[in-house]
Amino acid sequence: MQWNYEQPVAIRFGEGRVSEIGEIAGSLGVGDGVVVADRFFDEGGVTDAMIAGSDGALVASFSDFSPNPDVTEVDACAALLRRVHAGFVVALGGGSAMDVAKAAASICLTDEPIAAYHGTGRTMPTKHLPIIAVPTTAGTGSEVTCVAVLSDRAQGKKAPIVSDGFFPTCAIVDPEMTYSVPPHTTASTGMDVLSQAIEGYWSKGHQPICDACAVHAARLVFEYLPRAVADGRNDHEARSKMCEASVIAGLAFTLPKTTSSHACSFPLTNLLGIPHGEACGLTLDWFTRINADAQGGRVQRFASLLGFADADAMADAIAELKRTIGLRTGLRDLALNDRQIADLVRISRHPNLYNNPVDITDEMLETMYRHLARAD
Ligand code: NAD
Repeated sequence: MQWNYEQPVAIRFGEGRVSEIGEIAGSLGVGDGVVVADRFFDEGGVTDAMIAGSDGALVASFSDFSPNPDVTEVDACAALLRRVHAGFVVALGGGSAMDVAKAAASICLTDEPIAAYHGTGRTMPTKHLPIIAVPTTAGTGSEVTCVAVLSDRAQGKKAPIVSDGFFPTCAIVDPEMTYSVPPHTTASTGMDVLSQAIEGYWSKGHQPICDACAVHAARLVFEYLPRAVADGRNDHEARSKMCEASVIAGLAFTLPKTTSSHACSFPLTNLLGIPHGEACGLTLDWFTRINADAQGGRVQRFASLLGFADADAMADAIAELKRTIGLRTGLRDLALNDRQIADLVRISRHPNLYNNPVDITDEMLETMYRHLARAD
């Protein structure tokens, strides 16, 4: 077996470390920074306070984007970066803020729209403004990945762009930034962490360093996610452990890539509006059973390293976790019709599906979606 490992993002982890942005900008020798901030922080005054406290390193902010950000929102952000001659970008928010910031920090150095690269197969130029990523959900792991997931609502598509230029220069993982995340978002983003860890492990592109990260991250999610959902405002240990799980799960999947559950999450979010992590988790136990005996018993070993009797018991635990934290285990309330199920099957045939260790046929997808359509 041959494998490579690279991880170009400097990680600073710990409570209160968001205050180090000015120092990092100074050490990079950059100024005129723009904060690409989730609206929650803009409306709460956090963004203004960050700019005011930056000793002039930050000069503007951009918050005009939505969850599952659209290509047009990236272009608007890039226009601001060009207008103020930005020298670096701070991404403050969940995956949506970080992905807007990553794409805008590259495309602003060109005169093209991001749509020229989104789903077109064209390689992004790797030149980019330095990015300091401050994740506020735990989370997507986007702070350590070279991926930006964008939607093109006019074209009805959601797809990742991969570019080495998307790696942030530095990730500040400050658990305090996640204390305010509401329970359902905590549950959904935490399920994204578990999906990334498990899919990174069983991906055809698996490799030993990422395997070790996957086991560590998944173990933390099973232990701490229910606590973070139950009392995320006060249970700081649970928040901190979920932040640790999130950044380490990011390391677990960024090289191997995600697989079947992420492929299926795209139409579940696009067509049915299910939040990203919840959409990933919806199919995770199903694919755990399908992949149970793949790769000469690796998935069984993963389950046993996490303390489960076997992969089926891990699938049962995933289903139980979803129930405990209030996530969907079925789609019955949406009363899906045959056309919607056919669309889900068709759009699930995303490149990530081909990283799955077992070949997934349209018949398998249809069986799964029909099962979910009947389940509560
Ligand atoms: P998000 O960034 O869309 O945020 C979800 C909600 O939480 C928003 O309403 C936001 O306002 C709110 N929020 C965020 N932080 C908060 C805080 N601290 N307190 C209160 N509210 C807060 O959610 P996400 O799950 O982090 O990101 C999802 C996006 O990331 C999707 O588009 C997904 O496809 C993408 N993604 C990217 C990668 C990658 O590597 N680039 C990986 C996985 C997912």
